[in-house]
Amino acid sequence: MKEVHVIDHPLVTHKMTHMRKKDTSTGRFRALAREVSMLLAYEVTRDFPLSPVDIDTPLAPMKAKVLDGKKIVFVSILRAGNGILDGMLEILPSARVGHIGIYRDPKTLVAVEYYFKMPPNMESRDVIVVDPMLATGHSSVAAVDRLLETKPKSVKFVCLVASKDGIALFHDHHPEIPIYAAAVDEELNEKGYILPGLGDAGDRLYGTR
Ligand code: URA
Repeated sequence: MKEVHVIDHPLVTHKMTHMRKKDTSTGRFRALAREVSMLLAYEVTRDFPLSPVDIDTPLAPMKAKVLDGKKIVFVSILRAGNGILDGMLEILPSARVGHIGIYRDPKTLVAVEYYFKMPPNMESRDVIVVDPMLATGHSSVAAVDRLLETKPKSVKFVCLVASKDGIALFHDHHPEIPIYAAAVDEELNEKGYILPGLGDAGDRLYGTR
């Protein structure tokens, strides 16, 4: 309960340092996001079950093991989640993908959903939600609340940078969902950005501002 896994492998931390630097170009930032996501995918799937399968090597038959990739669903929180999705799909190409578009109305502070599409039969699927920044936590909580209506078999949450406040809020609402982060930062500024963070992940991934 209330698990937080900080993936501080030197390769991840090194790549995160380059992502954080303000002078890193859009193309480089996107490539680094992909690379870090591949490394995070390795950790987040560590406890996924394997099924036996009979195969033939060039020399002999053997009982081998495979992951059932089709049971895994990456759920990207738009739009920045797609920057993580790309790397994860490289590692698990047969995984299914869901998308959630949600934002918080700045006046009413109510979460507004503008897109929601999941694969069928979510009850039998293990979900990995991807969103680069767990900042205040409000939009992640709203997205996961909505996702849980589909009754997935299990849910994990993956981000690049989490704030301490975001982790606390997220786990107040969803203590059973483990969080995987490449880094945990101390603070949020008055606009809800993570400090020191890496800026606006969506803008940095897509060159918008
Ligand atoms: N979203 C971002 O992209 N960056 C932050 O620091 C906070 C929210």
